[in-house]
Amino acid sequence: MTLNYAVSIAGSDSSGGAGLQTDIKTMNACGVWGMTVVAALTAQNGTQVTASAKVEADFIAKQIAALCAEFPVSAWKTGMLNTAETVHAVAGALPADALLVVDPVIVATSGAVLLDAPGVAAVTDALLSRAAVVTPNIPETEYLSGIHITDTASIEKAGQWFREQGASAVLIKGGHNPAFAGSDFLIDGDGFHTIEGRRLPYSDIHGTGCCLSSAIAAYLAQGKNMLSAVKQAKEFVSSAIEHSVVYPSGRRTVNPLCITVCKD
Ligand code: PLP
Repeated sequence: MTLNYAVSIAGSDSSGGAGLQTDIKTMNACGVWGMTVVAALTAQNGTQVTASAKVEADFIAKQIAALCAEFPVSAWKTGMLNTAETVHAVAGALPADALLVVDPVIVATSGAVLLDAPGVAAVTDALLSRAAVVTPNIPETEYLSGIHITDTASIEKAGQWFREQGASAVLIKGGHNPAFAGSDFLIDGDGFHTIEGRRLPYSDIHGTGCCLSSAIAAYLAQGKNMLSAVKQAKEFVSSAIEHSVVYPSGRRTVNPLCITVCKD
C-alpha cells in the first residue's frame, strides 16, 4: 500500500486543540502520514491565547526544503501564518506544483488575532492564486472579499470573488449563520454545491476549522476529487465533534483521534 504524505504549515497550539497539533492528528486519522512546518507559535489554553511568537522566515523555508528533499508530498495545507513576512516565506518556499489547501485563519474564536492586517493582504496576493481550495468561515469570507454574507446569493458572489483571485475552489463554511443549518458551500469550476451537515448540539468547538482543512488535504493526498474530499472531510469533523473533549475550563475541542474520554 502506498504511503501518502501531507504537510501542515501552521501555528502551534499549546493546548493541543487546534493548529499543528490537531492537523497532524487529523491527517494521520484520515489515512496519510502527517508532517509539519512550524510557522508560528502560540501560548494558549482553552480560554485564551496569552502570547504568540513568529518563526524566522528563513527557518520556515528550511523546514519546507528539508521535507521536499526527501518526501513526495501529495498535499499541503496552511493555517495560522501570523504575519505578511511568514506568508511570503511560505509562498516562496512551496513547490510550484503544490496541491494546496489554504485555511485563511485570521482571528481565533477566543478573539485573539492570529494574522495581522498586512498578513491578510499577503494571503490574498500570494496564496489564494495557489490554492486548490480555500476554506474561509463567514467572518473570514467577509474580511477577505469585502462581501457581506446574508444568504446563498451572497455566498455565491463571494465564491466568485475567491475564484477571481485565482483559487480553483472555495469552501465557505456556513457554521456562523444559523440560517445555513450547518451547511457548507463549495464553489468550484463545476458550479455551486451545498454540503449538508449533521446537526450537532454544540456551538463553540475549538479547532474545527483546522481539523476540516487538514482532513480535506489528507483526502486530496489520497487522490480523491475535491467534492468527495470535502464531503468526507465534513463527515470526519462531525465525528471529531461528537467525540469532542471538554477542557477543565468547560471549553470543548475537536477530538480527531476520537479517543475515548473517561467520564467520572
Ligand atoms: N490557534 C492556532 C495555532 C490555530 O492555528 C488556530 C486555527 O484556527 C486557532 C488557534 C483557532 O482556534 P479556534 O478554533 O478556537 O478558532
